[in-house]
Amino acid sequence: MDYLFSPQAPIAVPVNGESLSFPVHRIYCVGRNYEDHAKEMGFTGREPPFFFLKPADTLVVVPKGQTGAMPYPSLTTNLHHEIELVVAIGKGGKNIQAADAAKHIFGYAVGLDMTRRDLQNDMKKQGRPWCIGKAFDHSAPIGPITPLAQAGDVNNAEIGLQVNGADRQRSNVAKLIWNVAETIEHLSAAWELQAGDLIYTGTPEGVAAVVQGDTLVGTVAGLDDLSVHIT
Ligand code: MN
Repeated sequence: MDYLFSPQAPIAVPVNGESLSFPVHRIYCVGRNYEDHAKEMGFTGREPPFFFLKPADTLVVVPKGQTGAMPYPSLTTNLHHEIELVVAIGKGGKNIQAADAAKHIFGYAVGLDMTRRDLQNDMKKQGRPWCIGKAFDHSAPIGPITPLAQAGDVNNAEIGLQVNGADRQRSNVAKLIWNVAETIEHLSAAWELQAGDLIYTGTPEGVAAVVQGDTLVGTVAGLDDLSVHIT
């Protein structure tokens, strides 16, 4: 087919131990999925999971052992970090039961759900969509994907974030309110998942602002670190 102008190149994430990359379809994100983060945002209790999306081209793909660059975004004075476990879907489906979820997972990565918190809070107050606070350019840094079989026990892994070498976030994936399998069950009831989808599973407590010049290092035990410099 001939196009009016060149289509955008596919967005892809490198995979450990593979020469082939993971082509990204959609990015789903789970809101308030750790209790102590829900509390710091002014909410309590276990509510049904809720979701928002980021376009695939908001990814900042950081290859193994490298430090990525994220430009400080426009319109905000309160850019927050949210360290998250990211699930890479290898096989699509709808109405996937939690007990079957593992069959649909290709692997895992460390991601950052960067957030223009001031804009998100304005939108929340007005009952408007979060897009401007969440789905902005370069808002989704991600490290390499580790295939499921090599990822270890990710559901019980330490998760953390350091900024300029100091601890900001530290928790365990076991504290997810809705675990990975339950998240896939809920998500696939609302959308048909496709191979290439990424799911940012939510952040633990400790979210706070970063500024130009900061270096963020995100970790999930068993996966490659994610290092990002704010430029
Ligand atoms: Mn998040």
